[in-house]
Amino acid sequence: MISRRKTRQVKVGEVLIGGDAPVAVQSMTSGYTHDIDGCVREINKLAAAGADIVRVAVPEKKDTLALKEILHQVSVPIVADVHFHFQRALEAVAAGVHKIRLNPGNINDRKQVEAVIDACRERRIPIRIGVNEGSIVERKDKQKRMKELGAVFSDSHHGHLLAIMITKLEEYLDIFYERNFYDIVISAKSIDPLLVLDAYTEISRRFDHPLHLGVTHAGPKETGTIRSVVPLGTLLANGIGDTIRISYANDPIYEVQDGLELLYVLGLRSRKGAELIACPTCGRIQVDLFTLVQDVNRKLKEQITLPIKVAVMGCVVNGPGECEGADVAIFAGDKRGIIYVQGEKVANVPEEKILDALLEECRNFQEKVRRGEARLGEKLVDIIPPDPLGELGSGYAKIAADKMESGAVKLPIVQG
Ligand code: SF4
Repeated sequence: MISRRKTRQVKVGEVLIGGDAPVAVQSMTSGYTHDIDGCVREINKLAAAGADIVRVAVPEKKDTLALKEILHQVSVPIVADVHFHFQRALEAVAAGVHKIRLNPGNINDRKQVEAVIDACRERRIPIRIGVNEGSIVERKDKQKRMKELGAVFSDSHHGHLLAIMITKLEEYLDIFYERNFYDIVISAKSIDPLLVLDAYTEISRRFDHPLHLGVTHAGPKETGTIRSVVPLGTLLANGIGDTIRISYANDPIYEVQDGLELLYVLGLRSRKGAELIACPTCGRIQVDLFTLVQDVNRKLKEQITLPIKVAVMGCVVNGPGECEGADVAIFAGDKRGIIYVQGEKVANVPEEKILDALLEECRNFQEKVRRGEARLGEKLVDIIPPDPLGELGSGYAKIAADKMESGAVKLPIVQG
């Protein structure tokens, strides 16, 4: 169980961030905000996938003008992402958004920041201060500033950048504190996962505001997943982080799915829907497991809403052991599959019927749980492996034949 760092709490619409609230998952629309129908569609799609909060860009007045109409048609809190023009923040607040994101790197005029703070206080709207490494470094005297500030965190691999982020944040926070405004969320994103780790760790020691975790510009999903999950998972496992956004150069729906999965596996959120465990397959596989797993995954999303643990394993050698702990499990043999429900063998079916039979058992189990006749994870699966030479017909007879000694069958012990 992860012990989370205690922070202040802010309210974003109906969603709480920080304190004892669950870690919230955020994403951002990729289309134009002034395209009202498209923006609403995208927000609702992200909300349906599980996003708790959605951010939209408001670079132009036509975007903030669209917000009022958008807010009527969506059910999740909306954050206005503001850069360069503080007026966009004031317009977004007037339109009724639930949070403002400001970038100290491009809105740093004290009077302008104060105007936004006052507007947000009046509407009880929190502000996220996002000190993204990529946009806070003053480019005109970057080298000079980096040298000066590098000494502050000289023991850090990223000394100069970390120093700039922390210094910029402290300077900015002073404006907020001087106006007694504490409904603040902080983010300190970078493309560099190690800098993200260092920055959030340092900030968590210095400030008690909730933290919005993210790796900025993480790239395509194929590589962005590791780039994001390594620092975010490490921080969350250390109790740091109150809301997250994974960012991919891809459909933002993946950001929500992966963000939720990260929180599920860390035990920071209660899973919605089935959890699928599957073996990676190896040279012992005798069914088309990859296709089966993809089909099972898709159908479980459509049909199962309870967090049933389902295991799909490739063979009898390691399948039984690896299925332990699942509510519904199947392991395959030679073109066959044996299905178990909480340890009880319920079917032995040919390969072409595995998918339907497995899903039927999952649906039946879900209904039993709903009727109170079964409990999730109540009984660890206690599988007694079937005879691979007989019931599964898995072809181990050939292997075994090579090992026959005085008529006794000795199966090889194989590590998966
Ligand atoms: S040995 Fe393990 S990885 Fe290989 S098919 Fe069997 S269960 Fe899957």
